[in-house]
Amino acid sequence: MTLTAPLTRLLDTPTPPIDPRALRLEPALQLLQQAGALLPDAPPHSQAWLQAVLDALCDLSSRDALTGLVNRRSFEMALAREVDRVARSGEPALLLSLDIDHFKAVNDTYGHGAGDLVIKAVAEAVNQAVRPMDLVARVGGEEFAIILPSCQAHLGAVVAERIRTRVEARQVDIGNGQQLAVTVSLGGAFAPQWVRSSTLLWLERADRQLYRAKAEGRNRACLEPQIDTLVTAEEKGMLFSLLQEESA
Ligand code: GH3
Ligand code: MG
Ligand code: MG
Repeated sequence: MTLTAPLTRLLDTPTPPIDPRALRLEPALQLLQQAGALLPDAPPHSQAWLQAVLDALCDLSSRDALTGLVNRRSFEMALAREVDRVARSGEPALLLSLDIDHFKAVNDTYGHGAGDLVIKAVAEAVNQAVRPMDLVARVGGEEFAIILPSCQAHLGAVVAERIRTRVEARQVDIGNGQQLAVTVSLGGAFAPQWVRSSTLLWLERADRQLYRAKAEGRNRACLEPQIDTLVTAEEKGMLFSLLQEESA
């Protein structure tokens, strides 16, 4: 089947009832089974069952298979939502880019399998160092990004440092009684408040700080110096009411 109609148009069009038994569901169910996803409890082929299958597929396609973290696609959607939220609420939000130091040497010395175990351990350590409301994503091979909504400016460096030390303290069991410790470098940038910015620009700013952390010797966190946006309380009030009118 080729997809021709834009999805937005499809979502607006009322559809006749679907008979789930007429759908080819085996590949989707096999995929869920292979991923260890729990299959729905509802009576097979009921509407509730089909909805649960779709939900499980959505969840699967938004996660990274190795670490279980949010994948790049889902991260980009979350980042766009955060840009929107910051522009509307004026609340500070921090984006951190994280990259494992000298990771190629881990693969070269201990093998790809050990490398994978290191990636999983780093993912776990980072996830345990942040709040439940923060979003940790695996955005590349050994690269991660973390969105921290409602993060006050003075806490940015504290959180980044906490993540760095948690990873550093972790001993990764790579089998054969061997333990390995790795370090990470982090770069961070706050979203500009009260201004709608692009996700790409925000990512580039955080990445620039990550390159600085690498260049300055690795195993450190560098945050972009805070540029105070000179917006008065009165201007914020005006901006906020304009945005509310826009969305009404
Ligand atoms: P730096 O400190 O500058 O970041 O050095 P590095 O060696 O970590 O950086 P580089 O980007 O050169 O190496 C990343 C390596 O990550 C290269 C690639 O082989 C490896 N890699 C990418 N994805 C995976 C993966 O899923 N599993 C494993 N084991 N290795 C991966
Ligand atoms: Mg890298
Ligand atoms: Mg690296």
